[in-house]
Amino acid sequence: MDAVLRSEHSPFVGMYEPVGYASAPAAQRRAAKVAERGQEELKKGIAELYDESSEMWEKLWGDHMHHGFYDKDASVSFSDHRPAQVRMVQEALAFAGITDDPLKKPKRIVDVGCGIGGSSRYLAKKYGAKCEGITLSPVQVKRAHALATAEGLEDQVSFQVADALKQPFPDGQFDLVWSMESGEHMPDKTKFVGELARVAAPGATIIIVTWCHRDLSPSEESLQPNELNLLNKICSAYYLPAWCSASDYVKIAQALSLEDIKTADWSENVAPFWPAVIRSALTWQGFTSLLRSGWKTIRGALAMPLMIEGYNKKLIKFAIIACRKPM
Ligand code: SAH
Repeated sequence: MDAVLRSEHSPFVGMYEPVGYASAPAAQRRAAKVAERGQEELKKGIAELYDESSEMWEKLWGDHMHHGFYDKDASVSFSDHRPAQVRMVQEALAFAGITDDPLKKPKRIVDVGCGIGGSSRYLAKKYGAKCEGITLSPVQVKRAHALATAEGLEDQVSFQVADALKQPFPDGQFDLVWSMESGEHMPDKTKFVGELARVAAPGATIIIVTWCHRDLSPSEESLQPNELNLLNKICSAYYLPAWCSASDYVKIAQALSLEDIKTADWSENVAPFWPAVIRSALTWQGFTSLLRSGWKTIRGALAMPLMIEGYNKKLIKFAIIACRKPM
């Protein structure tokens, strides 16, 4: 599964290969070291990408760094995009059956891959909950704090630099575990979902909204070479080391004995998003902020048409996976 994109084209090649089949202990230790170095390089790249680009994104798009949710085939105008991003959060909550009932609503939330805290603040306010956000980017942590303080939410939400694959929380802490468009950056999806499940309290809901590749048909063992080629180009630009399908996530959740597993393909609901991001980058403000932000951001912008191509070819899927930790 995760092996699909660890092909020779990936910039992170060799980083996450299992070390079990190396013959001698020394070779195993060497392989483990290479893998560890690869993971550190990946995290550094992700941190730098978001350190560089978050200010520009916020200026052009606001505090939600994720796709908008639109009615299928709706005609969309400029003023619809920010509300569509908030709608994405609302649709995810509705899909997972999170209730407003004061007795059942979430009280402790973790926002895994929190960006500058758009979801954290929304969820904390909506449910009167405490929310802890983690991101790899120190710049995002600082900005998330500032935005929370400006809204008087500093006692309710907090942010720190931490790795989603090694979360700084004890087991069973949170009754809502939220990951909005961070899963695609995770090099090991099994470990990722395992950590989400570990920090979830018994009965907690886990929501993952993420970029996937299409499901394979029963006769296929992997994607087609041209599809792999396209995804690998996108991998390098956005630090996405291991694509998988929504069905792969379901299998991982099943293997962890998670319950009420539900998934949906929202690719058509996000279709207006990337064309709008490209249009915003082509405005004078977009263009100048892009040039100021740095090479990683520019490389990301150049890859935007590839995302549209991936969606058009029905190769890239925008998926939600929701499930519950058993009581
Ligand atoms: N969820 C936010 C941000 C999405 S952008 C929003 O919707 O606004 C992706 C985020 O995932 C970034 O904040 C990035 O730092 C974070 N991320 C990626 N890999 C991570 C990891 N291993 N651990 C923690 N955060 C990670």
